[in-house]
Order: sequence, then C-alpha cells, then structure tokens
Amino acid sequence: MVGNEYIDSLIKANKIKHTVDKNINFGFKIGPKILGKEKVLIAGPCSVESKEMIEKISIDLKKIGVDALRGGAYKPCTYPVRDTTNGWKEGLKKKGLEYLLNAKNLSNLPIVTEVMDSSQISLVSEYADVFQVGTRNFQNYTLLDELGKQNKPVLLKRGTWGTLDEILGACERIIEGGNTKVAICLRGVVGMPSYRHIFPSTRWAPDLMMISALKEFTSIPIIYDPSHATGYRNFVIPISKAALALDVDGLIVECHPNPDQSISDPDQAITLEDLKKIKKIM
Ligand code: PEP
Ligand code: MN
Repeated sequence: MVGNEYIDSLIKANKIKHTVDKNINFGFKIGPKILGKEKVLIAGPCSVESKEMIEKISIDLKKIGVDALRGGAYKPCTYPVRDTTNGWKEGLKKKGLEYLLNAKNLSNLPIVTEVMDSSQISLVSEYADVFQVGTRNFQNYTLLDELGKQNKPVLLKRGTWGTLDEILGACERIIEGGNTKVAICLRGVVGMPSYRHIFPSTRWAPDLMMISALKEFTSIPIIYDPSHATGYRNFVIPISKAALALDVDGLIVECHPNPDQSISDPDQAITLEDLKKIKKIM
C-alpha cells in the first residue's frame, strides 16, 4: 500500500473528501468513448504550428484511430526565456485555437489543448473539448478553482514535484467547484535535477508506479504521457507498453509528420508510423 497511512490521515483531517470516493463517476466522454471504461488515445504535435500542418495531421490521426487531437496554442516551456529553436514562439495563441477548430471540423476529432491562466478560460473554452492544465500550473489554484466551475473536462497534468496527496488535492480543488469531469495525466517527475540540462534525454523520470498508487485511492481516470515522461522518442513506445501493462486509462502522445522539425519538444516527437504501433497495442 503506497502512502496509505498518509492518505488516511488526510481523510481523517477531512482534507481529501471527494477524490477518494470510488462511487463518484469521474469518467467523461472523449468522442464516442467513455474515459475510464475504454482506453483512449490522444495524440498530436506538441504545438500547433500552422493551419496546414494541424489540419493534415488531424486527418492522418483520425485514420490511425486516434480518439482526440492534442496541440498547444498556449505553450509554456521548461526554460523560461524565449527560445527560437525551430521557430518556437510560445504558441500561436488565438490563431492556434482557430486552426485547431479547423482541424476538428475536418477530422471530427475532439480537441485537447492547454489553458495557462484563468483569464484564458472563456476563450479556450470556445475551441477546446478538454482543457489541459500543464505541469507548471498543477497548483495554480485560481485556475483550478475557475475550471471547477466549468462544464468541460479537465486533464490535469501532474506537477513534476507533485506527491500522491497533492495530486488528489489538486483534483479535489476542481471537483469542489462542481466539475467532476477530471482526469489525471502523469507526465514524469523530477529525476536528477542537477543533470537535467546536461542529459536532456533523461530530464524527467517516468512516474509509472503512481498509476498503481492512484488506483488504490481514486477512480479518477489516469492518462499517461510517455512523451514528456521520457523526453526521448526511443523510449516512447516501451514506456507506453509499461503504462498500458499497469492498466492506465489512456495515453497522450506527441507525434509529428517530421519529428526533428517539431517547433517544440522535437526530441520526444514520434512519427505517425510509430504512433500506429502504439495504437495496435492499446
Ligand atoms: C505539453 O503537453 O506539451 C506540455 C507542455 O506538457 P507539460 O505541461 O507536462 O510539460
Ligand atoms: Mn510538449
């Protein structure tokens, strides 16, 4: 039992109420599938790069059998100062959202995209089917509180430092507002902080055990992100297999028509051919 005593003490202190109640139905629909009942595959580029790119890839992903399209229009990154490698500009913002909607209209895939701040919710809500909260905003309480008032699912990415009770507590923060359409996304944790910049390929450590740990405490669906968890494309398929073996409810995978040219996170982007292999084992 992982962390059981700690969670028990939090429950006794009335700190975590809803998220550990296995009778609450947290599942929500992604397209025709019910997350938590059927395995869901979300895929797409790290960033929305252009209208043509996102439209084309959405059609290709639909053919592969992907359930939802991911793509960042608002793009925070690990290094805070603007970097222009491959042309990255912290996202195309509103234009990126519009391109995602074009892609959705063509492919019929629901959209998963990041909202970084509570002031963006009303705009992002016009385009997104699922709000993604990025790792850097895992404990942005004003954002979580506002998302709790929305009638749209939230994919909450684990902060790279987040403990079991902090993950549940962050979900609780959303659920308290009345929104039970929540899923947890595990995306790797801080492994060797002092080496992250020297060995970027292993900058995060896959947090696979947390899948099993969370399942002991909550029925909130869990999506695994093998792309950010590893940071390196050769590890994406093996870690996807491991997450599926642990009975995760879905995967969110970064892919790109030409991975090395990816405007953000090029090292971890996989080809569509590799994505097909993941789809096969789901
Ligand atoms: C992303 O999904 O592209 C992303 C920025 O992820 P994270 O918040 O987990 O770093
Ligand atoms: Mn990314």
